[in-house]
Amino acid sequence: MDDCIFCKIIKGEIPSYKVYENGDVLAFLDITPVNSGHTLVISKNHYDNLIDLPEEEAGKLINVIKKITPAIVKATEADGFNLNLNNGSAAGQVINHVHFHIVPRKNNDGYKLWPGHVYPAGEAEIVLEKIKSNL
Ligand code: 5GP
Ligand code: ZN
Repeated sequence: MDDCIFCKIIKGEIPSYKVYENGDVLAFLDITPVNSGHTLVISKNHYDNLIDLPEEEAGKLINVIKKITPAIVKATEADGFNLNLNNGSAAGQVINHVHFHIVPRKNNDGYKLWPGHVYPAGEAEIVLEKIKSNL
């Protein structure tokens, strides 16, 4: 995609700090990290989002994530990490080239996960049936 920032990074038209690459996947440091070592993992072929991503490409991304995450955690002396994918603008996706975020986390780094809530009576059953009928 000519106007895609991540495709430009893959082509070398925009510089990046490359963490790892193979023939199919590129991992590079996020330009505005949540924590130091925050890494983005992308397929070298352009797909807008996870729904468009073929299964085979998804597997390749996960394999690279599994390979590099221990090194990211060790290098940053992290206590854990978040693996995140924002899908669609409602979920905070800004760059429409599917990407996973690997965010190293420290105990007490101050970030909170989303709050949960209890299902109102009957809602879990309703949404479950709706999801299953769309599978
Ligand atoms: P999204 O909100 O789409 O899930 O995340 C996009 C991410 O891409 C953001 O965290 C942002 O900092 C990162 N980003 C945007 N432009 C660039 C860039 O030119 N270089 C790098 N390395 N990261 C970028
Ligand atoms: Zn792209």
